[in-house]
Amino acid sequence: MKSLIEVMKDRGINDQAVLEAIEKVDRINFVPEAFKHCAYSDMPVPIGSGQTISQPSVVGLMTKELEVENTHRVLEIGTGSGYLTAVLSHLAKHVYSVERIKRLHLQAKNLILNQLKRRNISFVLSDGMLGLPDAAPFDRIIISAASKEVPRKLLNQLKVNGIMVLPVVENEWQQKLVIIKKTEPEIEFIEIGPVRFVPLLEGVVLN
Ligand code: SAH
Repeated sequence: MKSLIEVMKDRGINDQAVLEAIEKVDRINFVPEAFKHCAYSDMPVPIGSGQTISQPSVVGLMTKELEVENTHRVLEIGTGSGYLTAVLSHLAKHVYSVERIKRLHLQAKNLILNQLKRRNISFVLSDGMLGLPDAAPFDRIIISAASKEVPRKLLNQLKVNGIMVLPVVENEWQQKLVIIKKTEPEIEFIEIGPVRFVPLLEGVVLN
């Protein structure tokens, strides 16, 4: 079987810093017991509560497009397993990761802070559509769940010249990955290929 790094390279992800960050995070830690055999396959895997850990090549692509620098404060919506959070923490100065399902939030927080001992991450249980007004503005924003429209509040919390990466719903079957560059006077929208994410939902789930 190909290594995840080989899979990334095949998909055109050649950014050295991104590949190194991915190499530093062992996906097996983020995959539930029953799916450990799938940890190094390029596929999404169920993590409970109807959610999935993202496909590694999509994590690589989104991270590459986000162009994270080590001075950046990054807002991530949809912590899920925390896999992308951990990857981002190797590239950014600080990552703010928001999740709406309490069980997933606590699990990822415990794994990454207590077991993996990463320090430059703040985990927040909240509806990510609202963003984090107290910590805004952000250099980069990345969303791991699909919405029909670009969440306005999040775009407002992105710095000028900042980049946001998110999946946007086209119709019942299709989503596209969109890169937003908040340049002035006009915001630039770039559409990358088709993707498949769980939906971005409102509110918080406390069990
Ligand atoms: N990158 C994550 C992907 C997790 S799936 C990983 O690799 O594990 C997407 C996550 O987004 C789910 O956990 C879901 O609960 C969360 N989510 C959906 N809508 C949200 C919202 N409004 N605010 C915060 N998190 C949300």
